[in-house]
Amino acid sequence: EVPRGSRQKEENIRCLTMLGHFGFECLPHQLVNKSIQQGFSFNILCVGETGLGKSTLIDTLFNTNSREKKSSHFRPNVELKIQTYQLQESNVQLKLTVVTTVGYGDQMNKEARDILHKGVGKGVAMVNIIPLIAKADTISKNDLQTFKSKIMNELISNGIQIYQFPTDDKTTAQVNSSMNEHLPFAVVGCMDEVKVGKRMVRGRLYPWGVLQVENENHCDFVKLRDMLLCTNTEHLKEVTHTKHYECYRRCRLQKIGFTDVGPDNQPLSFQEIYETKRKEFHEQCQREEEELKHKFMQRVMEKEIAFKEAEKEASISSLI
Ligand code: GDP
Repeated sequence: EVPRGSRQKEENIRCLTMLGHFGFECLPHQLVNKSIQQGFSFNILCVGETGLGKSTLIDTLFNTNSREKKSSHFRPNVELKIQTYQLQESNVQLKLTVVTTVGYGDQMNKEARDILHKGVGKGVAMVNIIPLIAKADTISKNDLQTFKSKIMNELISNGIQIYQFPTDDKTTAQVNSSMNEHLPFAVVGCMDEVKVGKRMVRGRLYPWGVLQVENENHCDFVKLRDMLLCTNTEHLKEVTHTKHYECYRRCRLQKIGFTDVGPDNQPLSFQEIYETKRKEFHEQCQREEEELKHKFMQRVMEKEIAFKEAEKEASISSLI
């Protein structure tokens, strides 16, 4: 039997119902919730000659409709066409910005070369480069393998570093290393739906059959989509931010005199560089101010002498 006093105590105890997770195991959930609330963003720059199939490919990837505004194939210069889409898949929002080159290859002119150099500066990639072969339905299987090796050899011999799918994460290492072997991806873009058996599929209808965009035996479209939008999206963004942007920022700062090592090859802190620059600027201002003062005083003296001369002449002429 339970003594009376202790039963009363038990009745006073407040029972708390558990909310599932507690403690720091909740941290990942907080991050997931925050990311979902903020939404994600992803930027793609699609470079290639006019008519190569860029807009069609982007539309096929994201189910968008950018080809409505068709671009002329005879442009005098190269422009960047920027399109932003707000996409949603279940409760995940994605702000997609697609930049395509318009007029590239119409005339191999200065702007075209500039755009190429912005992406690849002396072999140092400033963006993640994923090489593609467009309109892969127009090349035979054997020729495609030769073409792929030729492109890879040219990239290597020109010292152009392309993006490598990461192999340091156990969960994706195998698929990523196999995908690295498939580069450049040979893709086909198409918004048309064709009947194959009982199903409607995205594909190009030819007199001899249908090229199914999402059939891995027909082209590498699914590989590209998985790598870009499923397996490595976050890694692509991370590399852009920590490697390419950092490299760009450092180059720009170096151009205006901010280096991160001193004359003795010792690393300098940003604060130190800032203080040195501030001192240099202050001293330059003082020098210029002194120079101005000096010039001003000289002009004043010259004027005074001229006045005195004029005064003298005036008094002489009044005496006469
Ligand atoms: P962009 O100028 O690079 O944006 O090229 P478009 O996307 O406007 O495509 C130019 C033409 O190529 C259009 O007639 C498309 O239907 C066609 N096209 C696009 N992708 C493919 C493809 O994968 N295979 C084939 N055979 N034609 C394609």
